[in-house]
Formats: sequence, structure tokens, C-alpha cells
Amino acid sequence: MAFASHNSKNGLHASRLDRPLSVNSMKSLASSPTALTPTSTRPKSAAPGSSSVQRRNGTGAQKSGKDDSGVSGRVRVAVRLRPRNAEELAADADFADCVELLPELKRLKLRKNNWDCETYQFDEVLTETASQKRVYEVVAKPVVESVLEGYNGTVMAYGQTGTGKTFTLGRLGEEDCADRGIMVRAMEDILADISPEHDTLTVSYLQLYMETVQDLLAPERDNIAIVEDPKTGDVSLPGTTLVELKDQKSFLELLQTGEANRFASNTKLNTESSRSHALLLVNVKRSAKNKQEKDFVIHNENGNSVHVSKGHRVPTIRKSKLLIVDLAGSERVDKSGSEGHQLEEAKAINLSLTSLGKCINALAENSPHVPTRDSKLTRLLRDSFGGTARTSLIITIGPSPRHRGETSSTILFGQRAMKVENMVKLKEEFDYKSLCRRLEAELDKLIADNERQAQAIFDGEEDMERKLEEAGTRVAEAESKLAAALEVISKEKQRQQKELVEMMQNLQIERAHRERLELELRENVQDLQDKKKKQIYAENEKHQKEIRDIFEQHQQEIKDVQTRLANECGQRERLEKELHEANICLQQSKEILEPENIHKEELSDLKQMLEKECELRQQAERELDAFKREEKKLTNGITEKNDIGEIWVLKKRLEQELLEREKLEDEIKSLKQQLLQVHVDAEERSRTIGKGSSARSSGGSNSTISLHTPSNMKDTINGQRATIAKLFEQVGLQKILSLLESEDVDVRVHAVKVVANLAAEEVNQEKIVEAGGLGSLLTLLQSSEDETIRRVAAGAIANLAMNETNQELIMAQGGIGLLARTADDAEDPQTLRMVAGAIANLCGNDKLQIKLREEGGIRALLGMVRSRHADVLAQVARGIANFAKCESRGAAQGYRTGRSLLIEDGALPWIVANANNEASSIRRHIELALCHLAQHEVNAKDVVSGGALWELIRISRECSREDIRSLAQRTLNASPTFQAELRRLHVTY
Ligand code: ADP
Ligand code: MG
Repeated sequence: MAFASHNSKNGLHASRLDRPLSVNSMKSLASSPTALTPTSTRPKSAAPGSSSVQRRNGTGAQKSGKDDSGVSGRVRVAVRLRPRNAEELAADADFADCVELLPELKRLKLRKNNWDCETYQFDEVLTETASQKRVYEVVAKPVVESVLEGYNGTVMAYGQTGTGKTFTLGRLGEEDCADRGIMVRAMEDILADISPEHDTLTVSYLQLYMETVQDLLAPERDNIAIVEDPKTGDVSLPGTTLVELKDQKSFLELLQTGEANRFASNTKLNTESSRSHALLLVNVKRSAKNKQEKDFVIHNENGNSVHVSKGHRVPTIRKSKLLIVDLAGSERVDKSGSEGHQLEEAKAINLSLTSLGKCINALAENSPHVPTRDSKLTRLLRDSFGGTARTSLIITIGPSPRHRGETSSTILFGQRAMKVENMVKLKEEFDYKSLCRRLEAELDKLIADNERQAQAIFDGEEDMERKLEEAGTRVAEAESKLAAALEVISKEKQRQQKELVEMMQNLQIERAHRERLELELRENVQDLQDKKKKQIYAENEKHQKEIRDIFEQHQQEIKDVQTRLANECGQRERLEKELHEANICLQQSKEILEPENIHKEELSDLKQMLEKECELRQQAERELDAFKREEKKLTNGITEKNDIGEIWVLKKRLEQELLEREKLEDEIKSLKQQLLQVHVDAEERSRTIGKGSSARSSGGSNSTISLHTPSNMKDTINGQRATIAKLFEQVGLQKILSLLESEDVDVRVHAVKVVANLAAEEVNQEKIVEAGGLGSLLTLLQSSEDETIRRVAAGAIANLAMNETNQELIMAQGGIGLLARTADDAEDPQTLRMVAGAIANLCGNDKLQIKLREEGGIRALLGMVRSRHADVLAQVARGIANFAKCESRGAAQGYRTGRSLLIEDGALPWIVANANNEASSIRRHIELALCHLAQHEVNAKDVVSGGALWELIRISRECSREDIRSLAQRTLNASPTFQAELRRLHVTY
């Protein structure tokens, strides 16, 4: 084991900065409860400890100019009860312990006798079962932590011999680690916290016996002096061995060495260890950063002030001490005191302990005098009681009632010690050496920087001078240029002024000249005007005469022109009349004749008329040309104002004439074209048909729909049909049908007309249908936008619908739907007549009744009555009659039952309204229809309620046709409903 020996006084030469304990360090101290026994809390200012500290540190504190006040920290006292030992277990078996512990309340009850006991409050109450670890943690650990933060600390054990002081403090725990005492555990914590590089840890181990201090690590040093620093009041023991510790193992060896030396020493002196005090002194030196931000002045030991500027962090060192004191047994004090023995030996042996008791009493009682100097122990413990250290005292007691006296005095010592207030302070010093080193390094750097800056300034100055020179030169140059420019400007100004003066003079001369000229001009003008006036007057006279002559001449000419114009007008009127007649003729020929029937004669007449027209026109044109020439001549000749108005009127009239003429010419042109077209068509047809057309007549049939109604055209039609039949033979049906799909509307129109004419002939009908004509006609009906085509197609379909087979085909190909749509859309009565005729034919087919009705045939038929045209109404009536007849037939044969579909579709009101229509073609059909409807009892009620009964009665009486009249009579007689109604109405029939 290497022991390094240091003189504790040869530490750093530093002023001391005492700082208050940090808040963290205070926590464990602050929780001290007040003792139950009479105690008083001493005011801080009056605390002997603080006064003591102030006294002791006064000089240094004043010198450093720092706040010297500490933080109040009361001495903490714990009591530990030793378990009964073997002897006690045997001897005191019948006796109860003299103490009773209340650890939860931190109270201890000391029995005076069987009926009386006293209670004491402690900071900690540790029972006989308390572990060494727990004892360390509650008693010593807070002190150890404070020491590591830079505060002095003391842990001391006080108590009767054999109560466990050494057990508590000094057990090494070699056999059982749980037995390790406070010294071992404290060193473990310190070693774990400090850093071996920056911090230093030294230990001394001493014994105090009979007022002699002996170094337990160098037992030959058996009279070590206690030295007090006169300035700081710090106590030191120069000559003691200071062992620098690095690990726990060397510490254990140190303790063992110390114990061995203590035992050897006691044996040699024939003393007991219980009569000596053992002191373990641990010095902790730690470097810490001081966050100093302001300039401040500190004073060194020689009284010289040192200025530390802002920004320099002064390194500090914290030098704290931990003192662990295993006191001699307390029984001697008690005995010497209580028994009144003034044994010198005892006094000498334990002067220190007695003195400690006195000091504690003085401190507890806040006495102005604390006899610290009376013993070596009190001198050594000066900082521990009433000083700046944080102090924890553990008092050890035994359970035996036999030692109740010692136990009681120990408890009272502890109680008094609890009243001692210390002023804990941080043991921090500036580390001037390292500060000096750092400042020197900074100074060197600053000197080097300064040199460099000086050089840079020098260089900069030279540069500046050079630039200044350059600038001066440039300024001089600029000034000379400015002077030159100013000179040029002033010369220019003078020149301009001179010019201005000259110009002004010229201007004045000019003005005078101009005035003179103006005067002359005015005179000249006057002369000129006079001459001109005279000349003009003479010329005017001459001109007027000339004009008058010309005027007279022109008057005559105008009269002539007017006469011719009147003639021209007459001519025009005649022409217009002729044109009008020609138009009428053309119109008539257009209306009457189909292109193929234009008679050659009429054409030639027309042609002649046209040629005549043309001749007349040409004549008129010639005259107009002549007139125009005249007019031009006149226009050229006339200059006189009065004539111009008249000529203008004539001109206007002429223009109008011309316009009229152009219009007439246009009309003639278009007429010509139309005639030409007619002519070409006719020629073409006649070429195709040939000259030998026979006048075959179809004679017509009641149910055939003729396409051309005017009766005066009948012959034409017959001729036409014959021609068409011929055409049909020669061209072929297929070709004609294909023309139905031609692009050209006119061709389609002609083709459909041809097909319609063919369809009027029964012989052709089958052929047309076979060749697909029906389909083409239905397509035309559906898709053509041309009214004529639709009308003619409907007519053709109507003709085809005469045949039963065709009727079915029409129905099968959706014909009824198309017819119904055409009926809805068409407005032209002829179209409607064709459609109604077609549907009427379909109505006559028994098999198609249901389908016809379902596909809207009846509704379409009834819808067409909106036309009011007699021909249309006749077809509608025919359709209704056909339908009623079929229904009647069906009912009679028994395959048809139920109400009439006509009635269902609302035909009855129209039947009733038209039953007595003026037109016989309508009336006859309706009368028939009504009779058929009424024949069936199932319709009888509707007939009655619809008012048709009266019509039936009328028919039975008035109808011109015998067969219908008797049918009505039969019907009336047969129906029970009618009979009942007639009876009800008292109508005799
Ligand atoms: P002191 O130092 O006060 O004279 P010691 O520490 O020498 O007393 O203890 C005396 C005896 O009592 C020792 O044998 C020790 O082992 C034992 N002893 C002391 N305290 C305890 C304890 N808390 N538990 C068990 N044994 C103890
Ligand atoms: Mg002991």
C-alpha cells in the first residue's frame, strides 16, 4: 500500500469562497420534525454556529467581498438500538427492555419504571433489526452527497461502550457484505461519483487519546499538532499521513492498517479502544466551472486585487471534507459527572468527550460562549458543530434496563445535539493557477493578433494614401474639363444672343415689307374686282339670251317626247294585259294538264302567243332605245335651270319604265322556261308512250278512290289511265316501282301517281303487291316529306285495300299504324280522304277487326272528322258502317261477344250527331252503322244512354232506303231494352 504524505496546509494558495448549500442538498435536512421534548428553534441571526462561522471567516469573507452567509442546517440525530446480546438475553430474560421504539413516529420511549416513561423525538429511530444499509442511507448518505457537492460533512457515533458505535461505523463486512459499516459504504459512494482524472481523494486516519493525536496510518507520529489558520479559522493537522485513494480495495486495506495500529497502540499503552476516539478524515477536491458573467474583483492572500473581466470563466475548485468520528464510550462522562468523582484520570482520559458535551450544551442553549478550545476533540470538530459542515449524529443505545442511566444520558446528549444549528456552506475556491495559464495563453494570442492588425493598418494606410493621390489627380482633371466646358458654353451663349438680335431686326424689316405688300394687294384686288364684275355682267347677258333660245327649242322637244311616252305607256299596258292572259293560260294548262297530256295544239298556241309577246317586247325595246337616245340628246342640250327640273322628272319616269320593262322581261323569261319544260316533258312522254294511246276507261268503282276529283277532268283521267296501262306494259312494273325510290322528288311523284293509277285497276293490284309495291308505298307513306307523295301513296294503298288478301298484308306490314300516323299529321282534306278510304276498306274485313282496333285504326278514323270536309266524313262514315257490319255479322255467327269496339272507342256521339247529316253519302253509312250497333242487346244500354234511340226511331220512320228502314224497325222491336225504354217514355211504336 502506497501512502503519499502531504502537508494539508500546502494546498492551493487561494482565497476561499463560501457558498450556500444547494437546494437539493437541503432536502433531507429540511424534513426534520420538532422534538417533543422542550426545544426552541434558535433564530438564524442568533445561531452560535453562524456567529462562530462569521467570527472565524470574517477576515477572508471581507477580503473576497462575497456573501458569507450560509444556509441553516440543523445537526441531524438518529438513535440506534442494539439487539440484546447473549449476556443480556440470559441476564435480563425476565426484564423488559428499558426502551421502546416507535420508528413510524420517530419516537423513543424510555421507561423510568413500570408506570412511568418519557418520550423523545429523533430525526430517525433505528430498531434493533435495522440493516446496516438502511442505517447508512438515513444517517450518512445525505452527508456523503453534500460532501460530493462541495460541503463539509461529519458523521459521528456517540454512545455507551458496547452499544455498537464501531459496529455501525467501522465494520468492513469482509465476511458478510451486508455488515459493511458507514465508512466502507461512504467511500464506495464517493469513489463511484468522483472522476479520477479531475478530482482528488485523500484520506487520513487518526486516533485521539488522552488529548494526544496519533496518526493511525503512521503510528510513530503520535503527537500531531492541531493548527488553526488565523485568517480562515480552518483547522489542519500538519504532518498527518494523507493517502490518495483510487479504489475501494486500498481503502479497506487502509482501514485494516489503521485498526491494527490502533489495537497495537492500545495494547502498548494498556488502554482500551473504547477510551479513544477514532477519526477518519476524507478530503475531496473537485474542479468545477464557475459561470461568472460579470466583471469582478477578487483579492488574493496578499491583499492585492485581481480584476477578472466578463467572459472569463474562472475555474473553481471545491475542497470538502468528510469526517467520520467513532467516539470513545460515553459512560465515563456520565460516571465522572453523575457520581461526582473528580478523577483526574478520567477527566484527562475523556476531557475531549466532556468538552464536546459542554460545547453542544452551549450551542443548544445558544450560549454566547462555546468552549471549543477546551479540548482537542472540540477543536477538531469545530466545523462539525456550530460550523459550516453538515453533521449527522448517531447515538447508540443498548436495551438492558441495567444501563438505563447511560442510555438516558446518551438520549439527552442526542436531544441537545438536535438543537445545534450549523450554517452549511459550499467550499469553493478559485483555481487561479489554471486561470492564470489560460489568461497567459489568451494574452499571447492577443499579442500576436495585435501585431498582425498593426501590420494590416500600416498596409491599409499606404493603400489609402495612394488612392487619395489618385483621387486628387482625377479631381484636378475634372475641374479643368469643367472650366473648358464652361468657356465653350459662354461663347455659344454670346453667339446665340447675337443671332437673336439680328433675327429681331430682320423680323421688323419683314413686317414692314409685308404691310406694304398687303396695302398694294388690297388696291389691286379692288381694281380687279371692278373689271371682273363688268366682264361677267356682259357675259351673263349673252348667256341668258342663248339659254332662252335653247329653252324654247327644248320646250318643243319635250312636248314631242311626252307624246311618245304616252304612246309607250299605252303599249306597255297592252303588253301587260297580254302577259296576264298568257299567265292565266299557262296556269290553266298547268292545273288541267298532267305533263303527259299537254295537247300539241295548245302548246303551239302558247308558243305563238309567246313569240308574239317577244315581238312586241322587242318593238317596245327598240322604241325605248330610241327614246333613250332622245333623252340623252336632250340631257346634253339642256343647261337652263328651269328645264333641268322637268327633265329630271322625265328621267325618273324613264328609269321606272326601264325597271318595269326589266321586270316584265324576267317574267316573260320564266314563263318561257316553264313553257319550254312543259313542252320537253310532253315531247318525251309522247315519245315513250307513242301516238296510238287508246282511251280505255276503268269506269270507276264505288270503293275505288280516284286521285283526281274535278269532274271535268274525267275524260282526261280515263285517257291518262289508258296511257299508263300502255306505259305499264311497255316499261314494266318493276321499273316503275324502282322509280318510287328515285332520288329526284319529281320522279318519285310521277312514279307514285303511275302506281296509284295502276292500283285502281283490280287486275293490277295483285301484280303490284307481288312485285313489292305495297311495301314501297308503305315506306313512302312513312318516310316521304312530300304531301303529294303521301296523298297519292295513301290513295294507292286504299285501292290495294279493296282486296281481302291485300288487306291482311297491309295489316301485317304495319300499314294501319302508318295510316293512323298520317291521319294524325295530315291537314290536306284530299290526303285525309285517301287515308280514311284506306282504313274504311280495312274495316270491312272480319278477321282484322281486333287488330285494327288495337293498332288505333278506329281512333284514327274518328280523329279525321276534325277535317269537316264532306269527302273525308263520307269515308269515315263508310269505315264505321263497315266495322259495325262486321261486328254484327260476328255476333250473329256467335264468334263475337261483348260491347261494340266502336262504342268502346267513343264513336257513338259522332254517330248520333251525324246520323241525320245532310250529305246522303255520310247519312246513309251512319244509319246503317247505327242499325248494326243497335241490333245487339249488349250495345242497347249505350244506344239508349247515348241518345241514339231517337235516331233509330227516326231511321225506322224516315229513312229513304227501304232496307235500312225495315232493319231499324226490326231492331227496335227485337230489343227488350228499347221496348222497355219506349214504354217508360210512353212512346208508342
Ligand atoms: P462499541 O464500539 O460501542 O463499544 P461495538 O461496536 O464494539 O460497541 O459492539 C459491541 C458488540 O455488540 C459487538 O460484538 C458487536 O458485534 C455487537 N453489536 C453491536 N451492535 C450490534 C447490532 N446492531 N447488531 C448486532 N450486534 C451488534
Ligand atoms: Mg467501539
